[in-house]
Amino acid sequence: MKKIALHTHLDGSLDQALAAEIAGYDVSQEMIGHGSDSLADYLSKFAAPIGLLQSWQSLRDAAYRLALALAADSVIYAEVRFCPLYHTRQGLYPYQVIQAVLEGLRAVPELKSNLILCMMRDFPRAKNEQIISLAQEALDRGVCGIDLAGDEAAHPNCEFEELFALAKQRGIPFTIHAGEADSYQGINDAICFGAQRIGHGVRSAGSNYTMKRLIAKQIPLEICVTSNFDTHLYRSPEEHPVKRLLDIGIPVVIDVDNRTVSNITLEQEYEMLMQRYGFTEEDLLRCNLTAALSAFLDPAEKVALCQELLQDFAKNHS
Ligand SMILES: [Zn+2]
Repeated sequence: MKKIALHTHLDGSLDQALAAEIAGYDVSQEMIGHGSDSLADYLSKFAAPIGLLQSWQSLRDAAYRLALALAADSVIYAEVRFCPLYHTRQGLYPYQVIQAVLEGLRAVPELKSNLILCMMRDFPRAKNEQIISLAQEALDRGVCGIDLAGDEAAHPNCEFEELFALAKQRGIPFTIHAGEADSYQGINDAICFGAQRIGHGVRSAGSNYTMKRLIAKQIPLEICVTSNFDTHLYRSPEEHPVKRLLDIGIPVVIDVDNRTVSNITLEQEYEMLMQRYGFTEEDLLRCNLTAALSAFLDPAEKVALCQELLQDFAKNHS
C-alpha cells in the first residue's frame, strides 16, 4: 500500500548500520527507546544520533538511508523533520546542515520529500527565531514548514505564542507537537496559534470541546501509536484512542515518529493498527488521503498524491 509519512524525525530514524559505521561500534542500545519511562526519557535516546550527525557527509548519508528506507516502505511523499541547530557542533553553518540533508533525500528520486524544521522547547527565543528565519529562506526550496518539539510537560505550548505569531506573519506553515506529554490544553493553544496540523494530539480524547474544534476546523492529528507506548502515554493497548478519534470524524494521519528510537517501519505500524485496533484498508487509505490533503504542498501536488493513492488502492483491489 502506498503511503504518506508526515511525522518522521531524521535523528530518531538514523539507520542503525550507518550509526555503527560512523561511531565505530554498535550504538543501537543507546538509540532504542522501548522501556523508556516518560517522554523526557525517550528524548534522551536522541543524544547518540545527534552526536553522530555533525558532518556534511554523515547528515547526507543519514538522509539518504532514511529516504531509501521510506521508499522501501512504499512511502511516496514524506515530510522529514529535525532541528538544524543541533548539528553545528563541528562548525557547519545551519544552512549547510539543511543542504546536506536535502542532498541525501534528493538522491532517492522515487521519494518526493520536504523538510520541516523543528524549533525546540528548551531553546532561548533567539535560537527559535533563527529557525523561523532559516525556514523562511528555504521555503519552497526543500523546506515546507516548521514545528515545535521537545519536552512538552516542561515547556507547554502556551509559552510559544509569539513565535508562532511571527511564523504566521512570515507565511510559514506549521505543525506543533501538542497533547502528547501535556494535556489537551496544549492542543487548544496550538489551534489558536494557527497550527495546520497537530503532532500526536491524542490527549484531545480527554476533552469534548477540543475534539469538536478539531472536527469543526478539520485539523489533522499526526498519530504515532507505537511511539505513544514507548513514551508511556498509555499502559494498555485498549486505552489508546486512535480508532475512536478517527471514527468520530477527526482527520487522522498515521506515522511512526522515529523509525529507530521506536524500532519500527510504517508498514509494521499499519499491520499493528489493523490487528490491534481494527483498522481496515479503507481506514488507512482515508488516513493517507488526509495526509495528502494536509501536506505542506500546493493544491496541484496534493491532488496528484491523492490520485496516486487512489490508483494504487484500485489496482490492489481489482
Ligand atoms: Zn514527534
